[in-house]
Amino acid sequence: MDSILSKIKAGKILVGDGGWGTLLIKAGMQAGECPELWNIEHPDIVSGIAIAYKEAGADLVSTNSFGGNRVKLKSYGLENEAKELNRKAAYLTRKAVGEKCHVLASIGPSGKFIMMGDVSEDELYESFREQAIALEKGGADSCTIETMSDLDEARCAVRAVKENTKLEIVVSFTFMRSSDGERFNTIMGTTPEVFIQEMKQIGVSILGVNCTLSVEDMCVLLQKMYAYEKGVPFLVYPNAGQPQITDEGIRYPETPEMFAKYVPGFYKNGARIIGGCCGTTPEHIRAIRSEVEKIS
Ligand SMILES: [Zn+2]
Repeated sequence: MDSILSKIKAGKILVGDGGWGTLLIKAGMQAGECPELWNIEHPDIVSGIAIAYKEAGADLVSTNSFGGNRVKLKSYGLENEAKELNRKAAYLTRKAVGEKCHVLASIGPSGKFIMMGDVSEDELYESFREQAIALEKGGADSCTIETMSDLDEARCAVRAVKENTKLEIVVSFTFMRSSDGERFNTIMGTTPEVFIQEMKQIGVSILGVNCTLSVEDMCVLLQKMYAYEKGVPFLVYPNAGQPQITDEGIRYPETPEMFAKYVPGFYKNGARIIGGCCGTTPEHIRAIRSEVEKIS
């Protein structure tokens, strides 16, 4: 299979998948449960999510491994299961989607910060190394170091993946929009421009933005990023708006139609991989796919 980057360079727009947590909760996952444990305890549900996204038209399907690093798994007492939980995550997605889709393994943040002294760089490196190797063994061909806000942690994860696997790398940060609407930064204060600079410097060739922002805010952010950098393809996975608490649980307001509406704008501003994050479903991905077909 050609790499993601070579497909983009050949002019393709790729469709990503949508939220996983959202669908696991729909399937009965309770607050406080370890999502990665579902790879062992409910493999059919996890495979079912991957199949649903593939059938909706995704070219890249993720793995249920967002919190699968040892440092994070420790809060569930599952740190010694890290290898198996990640291997199984990639195995389940690969088996579900076959050889024609990319298995874009999810590597999320540890929840601890090097700068604060919560975790050492060596410990973090080791944790990402172990996770990345297991994901590759399970069948992933690529990974997204995603929902990151800390440059130190992202750099550490990139190094761990690069030095120990052949996985193609996407790095995706999550930004907040300032109350005056003018600026974007991560919770650590990093701006999109600094994120782009720093990640280019360590040789990352696909950059992304995911989570936190609605589809409209994400489009404004992407405009800013594209004005600054036109040489790097972007991945964009917005949330389906801000979550609202209702009697039936958490609800996300943005519909598949709203996502479809923004696809041309994302494309115009350098997005070459378009999917969704929290609150998005296979219906959102189906709507994105049909818009992408109109462009390409
Ligand atoms: Zn999200």
